Amino acid sequence: MTGKIDHIGIAVTNLEAALPLYRDVLGMQFQGVEEVEDQKLRVAFLKVGESKIELLEPTSPESPVSRFLEKGGEGIHHIAYRVENLAEALDELKEKGIRLIDQTPRKGAHGTSIAFLHPRATGGVLTELCQANVA
Ligand code: ZN
Repeated sequence: MTGKIDHIGIAVTNLEAALPLYRDVLGMQFQGVEEVEDQKLRVAFLKVGESKIELLEPTSPESPVSRFLEKGGEGIHHIAYRVENLAEALDELKEKGIRLIDQTPRKGAHGTSIAFLHPRATGGVLTELCQANVA
């Protein structure tokens, strides 16, 4: 089902404060900042080989990432795996009895389609599936 690790999501309180470590110290290729209104987030992507680091800054106290930061502070928020067909992958997971946060695909950054599995179904690791280049 899964092809590769698409990205690792890291929750930060301030993108501009977090960026220099990844871009300048660790030397990752910065790909820009995008606002994902659905999730009340500003997102920065940095390329690491075939994968990416996704820095997540909440734009509202109602963002799920705000609640994450309040509970445990900055840190790894989720791991995202690339799938070829997200709708099919979600159907397959439902058949296998895996609890999902998103029953159907929703819009992610960079024109992707994404869905989250429930952390109770994945040993506490928030897991995202993402499909690239959805029109
Ligand atoms: Zn993500």
